[in-house]
Amino acid sequence: MYDIKIINGKIVDFDNNTFNKVDIGIKDGKIVEIGNITEDAINTIDAKGKIVSPGFIDIHMHEELIDSMENDNYDIANKMCLMGVTTAHGGNCGINIGDTKEFIGFINKNGAPINYVMSIGYNTLREKIGVLDNYREANDLEIEKVCKLIKEYEDLGVVGLSFGIEYSPGITFEEMLKVCNCIKGSKLFLSAHFRSDCEKAIESVKEMIDLSRKTNLPMQISHLGSCSATGMMNESIDLIQKSIDDGLDITVDCYPYDAFSTYIGSAIFDEGCFERWEKDYDSILLTEGKYKGVRCDKETFYYVRENYPDMLAVAFVMNEEEVIECIKAPFVFVGSDGLFNKSQGHPRGAGTFPRLLGRFVREKEELTLIEALKKITILPSKRLGLENKGSLKVNMDADIVIFDENNIIDKATFENPTLTPVGIDYVIVNGKIAVKDNTLINSREGKYISRS
Ligand SMILES: [Zn+2]
Repeated sequence: MYDIKIINGKIVDFDNNTFNKVDIGIKDGKIVEIGNITEDAINTIDAKGKIVSPGFIDIHMHEELIDSMENDNYDIANKMCLMGVTTAHGGNCGINIGDTKEFIGFINKNGAPINYVMSIGYNTLREKIGVLDNYREANDLEIEKVCKLIKEYEDLGVVGLSFGIEYSPGITFEEMLKVCNCIKGSKLFLSAHFRSDCEKAIESVKEMIDLSRKTNLPMQISHLGSCSATGMMNESIDLIQKSIDDGLDITVDCYPYDAFSTYIGSAIFDEGCFERWEKDYDSILLTEGKYKGVRCDKETFYYVRENYPDMLAVAFVMNEEEVIECIKAPFVFVGSDGLFNKSQGHPRGAGTFPRLLGRFVREKEELTLIEALKKITILPSKRLGLENKGSLKVNMDADIVIFDENNIIDKATFENPTLTPVGIDYVIVNGKIAVKDNTLINSREGKYISRS
């Protein structure tokens, strides 16, 4: 007797780039049979006409504060799950939100709606050992202290080390080389939020490529859209392709929106940003409290930056054609960069994957369904070292999304950033139903996965 049997669906097969009409049998969290299944099951799902895909793997998101988890809100993980994500990679852009040891401990004890893998954020570590000035370089003694901390996190099984160069402009290339030196020979990969955008995008991309070249470590370039989708995408893509042809292990992620979002008090909004973007103050949308939905003028911008530095703001400064060009490149995965602060922020945290499949695959026909699915399943699973996730085969973890390719679409907007997408019938996490008919079932089957 199986726990779940999925019948009549179109099962994604990446080996042959096709969809097969076969059944899937699930028991004890694993896929145990694929084919014409005669065995009975406790729960039979008729997926007639629907796509049965590996659960989506979000290569780039920002984990939530443990407070919301303790209150059982799971501010971000719930929204992730509702858009088909079964495993997410946190700790990006150099930032860990809250204490990572406590975060991992909490999930180990209580579970979560989705599985988590984690990177350790260099900017957070730098702050932790006392470098509170984001505009200065860390000295050798400080780097030594950071390296000690990194060792502790390595023991917790984190998969990568992330840099948020733009957030701490004082971080020099030399400093990053020194830090990477202390993870030499480990299995960690690097990821980086670039140094700057627009006319500085190319030198920023070069810096991340050089870091990989000089350290011999794999590199995941973060959200390239927000770096280069302002006239610099062509050249950025060519540069990265060339470095891959040279033998470097470089991959990229991008979210499918033409606006970015971050904290209004951060260095991203330092003097000169509007000149670089060639935009005015009204390109910035505020997201919280009495400022929710407010477009900035000069006075509001400086006032909020000073008084509410932790408020998330959205900046409409990118070109969608260039975002699409980015997503279509073979080495680019789609990740959400999802981040919510009290359920406010950018709609990418609740809409990224249905938007990719609805807007860019079905409506705009920019890429095929199989191509798009690879970018959110098997490709990120390889980068993250998730051997049991990312494709549907016997003995793999039963992380599965069942959706309607003719109907799936995001609903989250900049005004209502957490609205649930439509077209997702089931999300199964480790063999248990977590979402049914776009509605969350209180599942806590998600685990923290340490590097194998
Ligand atoms: Zn970032």
